[in-house]
This record gives sequence, C-alpha cells and structure tokens, in this order.
Amino acid sequence: MEIKFERFHLQSDLRSPLVGFETISVPTEVRIDPLTKRRSRIITWGLLSPARFDFSKITDGSQECFFCPENVLYKTPQFIKEIIPEGRVRIGKAVGFPNLNPVGSYGSVVVLCHEHFLNLNQFTPEMYEDGFSVAIEIIRRTMAIDPDTRYWQISQNFLAPGGSTILHPHLQVIGDPVPTNEMEALLNASSSYHQRNGTLYWQDLIQIEKGLEKRYITNIGKVHWFVSFAPIGFNEVCGSVEGHGSVTALAREEISSLATGILSTLKYYDEKDLNSFNFSIYSISGEDYYQLLLRIISRTPLQPYYLNDCTSFEVLQSELTANIIPEELCHGIRPYFP
Ligand SMILES: [Zn+2]
Repeated sequence: MEIKFERFHLQSDLRSPLVGFETISVPTEVRIDPLTKRRSRIITWGLLSPARFDFSKITDGSQECFFCPENVLYKTPQFIKEIIPEGRVRIGKAVGFPNLNPVGSYGSVVVLCHEHFLNLNQFTPEMYEDGFSVAIEIIRRTMAIDPDTRYWQISQNFLAPGGSTILHPHLQVIGDPVPTNEMEALLNASSSYHQRNGTLYWQDLIQIEKGLEKRYITNIGKVHWFVSFAPIGFNEVCGSVEGHGSVTALAREEISSLATGILSTLKYYDEKDLNSFNFSIYSISGEDYYQLLLRIISRTPLQPYYLNDCTSFEVLQSELTANIIPEELCHGIRPYFP
C-alpha cells in the first residue's frame, strides 16, 4: 500500500489588535490528497457563526412552486416515451422527471417530499430512500436504451448558498457519456493506483483509516463513512459503498445506509447552525478499480448579508480550503451516526 497522508505547515506572524498588538502566529495546514495529489488548505481560524436564519419570511412562496404536490404532476416535464412511457417515476412521495433546463445528455430532477421547505433536522430517511430509488430507476431505464451513458451524478443543492434556485427539496440526476473533471480525476488516479499496487484504493484507504481511528466515522452495512484527510469543501464527509462503482445495482439496504449517513451529517450541520449544503454521488459503470463515492459538504449558511465561501483561492487558484481540522470534525460528528 502506498497511501501517504502528506501535510506541511505554514505560519503567518502578525501583531494583533485583539491582544494589544502583541505578536501572534496563525498556522495554516496544507494537505495533499493521497489519491488525487490535490492540495487543500485547512484554515484554523473560524468566522463567527451567524445567528439562526429565520426562514418564515422566505418559505411562503409555495403557491407558485412547480415542485409542490398540487403542481408537480401538472406543471413539470415528462420523459420521452422511449425512456419512461409513463412520463414520470414515482416512489412513495418522491417524483422524478426531466429537468426543463438540463446541462448535458440526461438531466432529471427528483422532488423528495411534499413539504415546500425543510430545516436540516426535518429530512427523514424515507425521503432519501425513495428519492434515491427514483434516481436509480431513471438511471437504469436510461442506460437500458443508451448504455454508453456510464457517468452519473446524483446531487443535491440545498438553498441559495448551495446554488439552488428552488427552495423545495430536490435532487439532480445527471448522466453523460463523458465524465466530469472530478470523475476523471478520481478514475485516473484510482486506475494508476491499481496498476501500481494491484489493489483497490478505496479498500486500502478504508482499512488504513479504520486503523488510525482519526477520520473513520463508522460503517453502516457496506457503506463506510469517513472524513477526508484533504477536504475539498467545508465539513466534508464521505461515504463509499463496498462492492459497487455505480448506483445501478445498489440493494435496498445500501440505499438506506446512504440515506442514514446523509441524515446523520445533516443533523450535525443543523446543530452547528449550518443550513445549506451540497452532496454528490459519483456513479461510474464499468470500471473495476473505482468504488462508489458520496461527498457531502456544508456551505456558508444563508444569512441576511450573504457571504460566499468561494474566494479567489477556490475559483482562480484551484486551491480548496476547509475551515475545520478533519480529525476534529470526525470526533464531533461521530455521535450523530448510529
Ligand atoms: Zn414547493
């Protein structure tokens, strides 16, 4: 095994007005991802947490919402007959349909629930179990007529800081014959790791992280939950599903484990007064050296004077920052998991 957790320390000295202009040292840690070799910066100072946002003023727009139950079956698009003759996919309260504004070959939306707005502690396992089941059904039926579409993401953007234009909780399901940059980086690095070591990176990583007990959270069935050594976002938690590279053959139990891990993470975010998040499942068919990965991050909470969390560092220098030390996040979030 060649997994290395490389890091180096940077330090900035300054005379602080907060302590009578005494000289203080502020450390920053640069960490190198053991797979992709991408650098992340762990900043050690935190912004003050804003007060809990009052959502009552922005949640009363449900009359015009296309995703609310009175509209969703009348005002949303339908799939073409070759893919899903019945037009939409419905399981429980979840409803899947094509995105009116797609960004690739196949873009769908899955509305998760009847509720127009949910606080992070109001999502339930059934919402994600049904939502993922709808997403997987869409993927299976699309791949049945177009097997070259091997690269899929199941993602959620929640609230405006997460890039969502619609408040009503929903997933994005996007499939293409070409990978995204992130999928390609994961695949290339996993493939060369496999060529050099003859083993699966993800299995090796999980074995090492379990032994170190610093970033491994728990396993829920075959889904392993851990905090990234070199995160690419705030409060980043990952889940990886043993024995799968794509979502297409996930069993009910594995779907439910993914839902439980997301719920556990959202409960932790909620108690930290965070209210916005993104997650992505990177689902790739036909690659033996890749293992299904889910990555969830928090975003700067919605607040009256919004602060974006992507600075020139992220958007122009491609250097990602995280505002909590990963080992501290793991310690703090562990009690929220079963
Ligand atoms: Zn709605």
